[in-house]
Amino acid sequence: MPRTAIVIGSGIAGLAAAIRLVKKGYVVKVFESNSYPGGKLHSKRVSGFRFDLGPSLFTMPWLVTELFELHGKNPVDYFQYVKKDVICNYFWEDGTFFPAESDKDFFIRRAAATFDENPNKLNRYLKDNKKKYDLTSSIFLENSLHKTKTYFSKKTLKAIANIATMGISKSLDVTNRAYFNSPKLIQLFNRYATYNGSSPYKTPGIMSMIPHLEMEMGTYFPKGGMHSITKSLFQLANEIGVQFYFEESVKEIVVKNKKAIGIKSSKETYFSDYVISNMDIHPTYKKLLPLEKHPDRILRQERSSSALIFYWGIQKVFPELDLHNILFSNDYEDEFNHIFDKKNLYNDPTVYINITCKENKSDAPEGYENWFVMINTPANYGQNWHKLVAKARSNIISKINSILNINIEDYISTEFNLDPVAIEQNTCSYRGALYGAASNSKFAAFLRHPNFSNNIKNLYFCGGSVHPGGGIPLCLLSSKILSDQIPSLSNGK
Ligand SMILES: Cc1cc2nc3c(=O)[nH]c(=O)nc-3n(C[C@H](O)[C@H](O)[C@H](O)COP(=O)(O)OP(=O)(O)OC[C@H]3O[C@@H](n4cnc5c(N)ncnc54)[C@H](O)[C@@H]3O)c2cc1C
Repeated sequence: MPRTAIVIGSGIAGLAAAIRLVKKGYVVKVFESNSYPGGKLHSKRVSGFRFDLGPSLFTMPWLVTELFELHGKNPVDYFQYVKKDVICNYFWEDGTFFPAESDKDFFIRRAAATFDENPNKLNRYLKDNKKKYDLTSSIFLENSLHKTKTYFSKKTLKAIANIATMGISKSLDVTNRAYFNSPKLIQLFNRYATYNGSSPYKTPGIMSMIPHLEMEMGTYFPKGGMHSITKSLFQLANEIGVQFYFEESVKEIVVKNKKAIGIKSSKETYFSDYVISNMDIHPTYKKLLPLEKHPDRILRQERSSSALIFYWGIQKVFPELDLHNILFSNDYEDEFNHIFDKKNLYNDPTVYINITCKENKSDAPEGYENWFVMINTPANYGQNWHKLVAKARSNIISKINSILNINIEDYISTEFNLDPVAIEQNTCSYRGALYGAASNSKFAAFLRHPNFSNNIKNLYFCGGSVHPGGGIPLCLLSSKILSDQIPSLSNGK
């Protein structure tokens, strides 16, 4: 009898887990509530425009390409990407403009001049960030935090010896203030807290390793847009025999004698040797395992931020904008206070504009641009989103008008939006949070659910709500960590 693994959900982590488990010799079945793969990593075509609906920033592309290599395929036959020279264009209301270059020396020179900072301090900051990343990535990102062997490696002992230098006990904002005087440069580096849906005024200073990921390792654009990550992995999964069951929701994980033995879907019961949930960890327990013991402390963790996105077809070309653009709020601290404490929207939001037709011309008709306009929001706690979305739209338009000196509403030719409620509905992400739990405490990394169950044998977890965290690279790493724990059946594989 072939041995089987069932994956619940075809988000990026579910696809990667399926691909890895085929390599280990399993027959893999993926169950997906939606009619399409990819979860948040999906796209939509409207009136001649193509919009990536979810993630827009792509780092660590080798975590995608290694999945093709694992199966002896040449990645470029499936998936291609280009490195960006400019990471992001930053704008402030007083007219300050800063294009963050990926070349470190350029970045330092330009940042020192724009923000009136000492280049040596910038250099030291970037070096210290690299050190934090090098010391901790193998513990926090590449291995299970929940297996004792992780704590007995040389790397872990070295990290522990350097713990005082990591900024674990102070916030990212306090860490950044210790290096710089310029409020704008501090704001720029504080922004990296949003990469895992957290507040820079609460998340620990160790998160300053995130700019290192962008600045040393680079940011990339997949040819054809972000959705080509999903499309290429789906193609690979089909070629290697993964079986997909679309529009078939899993309703229960079947457990017998403390062992996962299969699932009940909306259509029938399927038995398997392993069950891997790519569904958000909160509803996995609450909906699929209602009678089992729940890790309440983990499930109670504060949720990460969510987002409100307007997808606009714009009848104008903006040479001053690039693929990634940020229009900063005048009061960043108050903005995060609204998102995480008041659970409300701020009247002067930081606006992120992503324009993929800058790289992929066919994403918008000639003379137009496809704008993905996003603000960070609280997770969904039952706020009146209808009212909040209308107000946010008007605040976003004011911000864009004031910084770009235009009346942007005159140029919007196509429009739809996505709010936290829809994010929750589309992907079953608890409260519509983008990254599972927030990392607003120094213990956050330890309070993410492991990639395996402590109580139920043969049950594993992957995706943005479990270890090591949200975002495409970490989701891919979650699948790697879990598949390393499942025995290989194939000779020499
Ligand atoms: C607007 C937005 C912007 C973002 N920006 C970025 C970015 O720039 N860069 C970045 O790296 N990350 C970004 N992220 C985060 C990133 O998208 C996620 O961390 C990642 O895609 C989550 O992948 P996942 O594997 O956890 O699954 P998800 O994408 O959450 O998918 C889970 C899948 O499981 C399915 N499912 C759930 N329950 C069941 C069930 N019971 N039965 C069957 N199927 C089920 C769902 O339908 C869904 O398809 C963003 C997210 C959003 C929404």
